[in-house]
Amino acid sequence: MKPETIALHGGSHRADPTTGSVAVPIHQTTSFQFQDTGHAARLFGLQELGNIYTRIMNPTCDALETRLAALEGGVAALAVGSGQAATTFCVMNLCAAGDNIVSSTDLYGGTWNLFANTLKQFGIKVRFVDPVDPENFAKASDERTRCWYAETLPNPKLQVFPIAEVATLGRRLGIPLIMDNTAAPVICKPFQHGAAVVMHSTTKWIGGHGTSIGGIVIDGGNFDWAAGGARFPTLNTPDPSYHGAVWTEAAKPLGPIAYILRMRTCLLRDLGAPLSPFNAFMAIQGLETLPLRMERHCANALRVAAWLAQHPKVASVTHPSLAQGEAARRAAEHLKGGMGSLLGFELKEGAEAGRAFIERLKLFYHVANIGDARSLAIHPATTTHSQLNEEEQRMSGVTPGYVRLSIGIEHVDDIIADLEQAIG
Ligand code: PLP
Repeated sequence: MKPETIALHGGSHRADPTTGSVAVPIHQTTSFQFQDTGHAARLFGLQELGNIYTRIMNPTCDALETRLAALEGGVAALAVGSGQAATTFCVMNLCAAGDNIVSSTDLYGGTWNLFANTLKQFGIKVRFVDPVDPENFAKASDERTRCWYAETLPNPKLQVFPIAEVATLGRRLGIPLIMDNTAAPVICKPFQHGAAVVMHSTTKWIGGHGTSIGGIVIDGGNFDWAAGGARFPTLNTPDPSYHGAVWTEAAKPLGPIAYILRMRTCLLRDLGAPLSPFNAFMAIQGLETLPLRMERHCANALRVAAWLAQHPKVASVTHPSLAQGEAARRAAEHLKGGMGSLLGFELKEGAEAGRAFIERLKLFYHVANIGDARSLAIHPATTTHSQLNEEEQRMSGVTPGYVRLSIGIEHVDDIIADLEQAIG
């Protein structure tokens, strides 16, 4: 089925089997009644999959997980309390102290902090490389490299990541590529280009209305973790916390889901951070209209980028539609349904003019979020990326005068009118 249909019908939920409810019910419960002691033992022993306790699984979350897995073309998913939790789980599912991952420098500021500072506390080293040359990932890897990590459409640079090239290189070395596809749902399908795992902050375009924080990890089911052997000890060696289960073996009767199964049964069990059923419901409401909204988001952003590019007071505009050379080729290869709705620009008069522009906006909200149905603006150097030092800001593409816009689904004439009066 096509994305528009999957967004409404995909996954485990049809009508609720007891009530007939068409909308996904909010299962606001901590626990689920077992049929008998044998049933309880089978669920705990993973001989049968079913609901036990909402920290580990919940039917409302399951509806979201299975629908997003279907939309991305993966085999299974795990919903968690935020995009940050999703990224943390992606890495911690494979790494222990002494291990490393290789990551693109082009990252959301929060992910940068997690990778550069917090993971270091746990002995996990992140090696940052410039994605301009895909070979950089291979050069930075060794036998303790557990995965590669990148964002499809990273802001502020908005240069599309070369998913296909890097994933192919990684597969040759037996290293999986994990993609943060937050800014490109529907318009990019990382599994089709060889990614092994996809994560999203559902807080953004999927939720779409700026109401609920959430995250999801989707297993592509397309990576042979068992063949990786010693590279993936968390999946290929006996797990003392689960009676010595080897996850690549334990998952076999259930499908190619070793990675996501271990994430649920170990990380979610031990670290917590589940998505609440209510927030899962909110994400599902957003998801149902996501393909339609993406169309409008992308069409509006295209118009705004072209308008800003010809404005006499604008020094530069960053949007994939305006990319040149290799960056343009990568955008065309990976973004099939539109060029996204993030864009950046700098005013000729610099940082002070950028700040004044934000102060004058009337329709745009001045917020840290992106991917809301409403148009949003922010000055990254003093906000989202302010915890990075100058060198880190430069590496991730943040210059002092850069203004980031997340273009909403209002009428484009009204969006441009607000920008026009604010530029002055
Ligand atoms: N990934 C990207 C690309 C983001 O923009 C964000 C948040 O801005 C995150 C991950 C983290 O998501 P959350 O805010 O839901 O924790």
